[in-house]
Amino acid sequence: MANLNTKTISELSDLLEQGKCTSVEIVNDVLAAIDARDGKINAYLTLDRASALKQAEAADKARAAGKKGALLGIPLAIKDLLNVKGQPCTCSSKILEGYIAPYDATAIAKLREAGAVFLGRVNMDEFAMGSSTESSAFKKTRNPWNTDHVPGGSSGGSAASVAADEAVAALGSDTGGSIRQPAAFCGCVGLKPTYGMISRYGLTAFASSLDQIGPITKTVKDSAILLEAMAGKDEMDSTSIDLPVPNFAKELTDDHSLKGMKLGLPNEYFVDGMDTEVATAVWNAKKHCQELGAEIVNISLPHSKYAIAVYYIIATAEASANLARFDGIRYGLRKDGADPIELYGKTRAAGFGPEVKRRIILGTYVLSSGYYDAYYLRAQKVRTLIRNDFTAAFKQCDAILAPVTPTPAYKIGEKTNDPLKMYLDDILTTPVNLAGICGLSVPCGFSKAGLPIGLQILGDSFKEANILKIGHAYEQTTDWHRQKPRI
Ligand code: GLN
Repeated sequence: MANLNTKTISELSDLLEQGKCTSVEIVNDVLAAIDARDGKINAYLTLDRASALKQAEAADKARAAGKKGALLGIPLAIKDLLNVKGQPCTCSSKILEGYIAPYDATAIAKLREAGAVFLGRVNMDEFAMGSSTESSAFKKTRNPWNTDHVPGGSSGGSAASVAADEAVAALGSDTGGSIRQPAAFCGCVGLKPTYGMISRYGLTAFASSLDQIGPITKTVKDSAILLEAMAGKDEMDSTSIDLPVPNFAKELTDDHSLKGMKLGLPNEYFVDGMDTEVATAVWNAKKHCQELGAEIVNISLPHSKYAIAVYYIIATAEASANLARFDGIRYGLRKDGADPIELYGKTRAAGFGPEVKRRIILGTYVLSSGYYDAYYLRAQKVRTLIRNDFTAAFKQCDAILAPVTPTPAYKIGEKTNDPLKMYLDDILTTPVNLAGICGLSVPCGFSKAGLPIGLQILGDSFKEANILKIGHAYEQTTDWHRQKPRI
């Protein structure tokens, strides 16, 4: 069978189950696609060819011995901030160049147990700070739909690898939109799970109260499969929640009716400066959901307009504390100095890039005595108001429909000189992390220039089943996700 790399997890697991292909064949097709295309796309930082083939052989053997499972023998690309034992984990930063993960993150350990194959590490914004993957210290990843454009970020390598069929699926992390936004820019499905759904143990921390691991896939069903495999309580992460994990994938049936579902449309999410092509695509998606039987209700999320200010105070404050551990003593890069203080200073000056430094300075400032009350404490209070908006909204509806980003993917270099302009693009994704709820991005159209557009479906905490059902119904009755970029 040819081009196995173009198929989805659920298609491949059926083929594997029926003995129509092997995991080694899948991995070989994926490696061939990487060889043919990644010179153009630049999604991968490191590729572990020999180990990937070995893992695939082991999966094929396990299947022959009677092991089953949707992920057995499926190759995945992993964002370079999740620890995969024995592989590099640089967070696309010079400060972690040469660092090899000594252990598996819990999410990775669970996937390994399920038989998934870890191909290698994919590019990202340095320490997940950014929206375009341009802040990587190592390379610029390109959007497979148009290589002059960014793939989005910070999980840009993950989304680009999936869109280019250089991975069957990928993992990313989402602190303020970093799964949903690159998924939207690259025409993939991206899921940001509820805070506490998946253990963060082994995920390099950016902003601990906002970070979540999640999948970037070709279909909603594939996201459900990965979510199910990674979710659940972990004693290594005290914020992971002890709730039974539903059989998310099985609940996605061929019944695509949305009868009985109420979908909220927030006025505030059709912001000033929104691209008309994006607004039209989301509007059409809303109409499509109505045709599937959903009822649309108008809702209001009045504090959304403060989300960017609140997010960039809280996220930078937490980042300034989290990144203190990169001191030249414990991990990666070391620049010698006459005394420890000089060593710390030299190491951090040489190891961190400009965006990371900007955030550490901002975060340290908002936490400093004298400014703490005015910025950090106030931001936490407004964060509660943003959460309360969602609590009120979910009394009126089962899920919320919104755009993911104000515009489709922009050109490489277009926003690098104006960080504030880039921050503003996170207006529609950050409220979800601040509230701790879940959000899904599914393809809902293309701009005239041929760039993908994403629809965001938001659900209340631990209501992943709702947003997956809506996303699946929408996806299976539309054609957007079946389009492939010409590379
Ligand atoms: N773009 C946002 C930021 O730069 C979100 C990043 C993320 O979710 N990791 O902080």
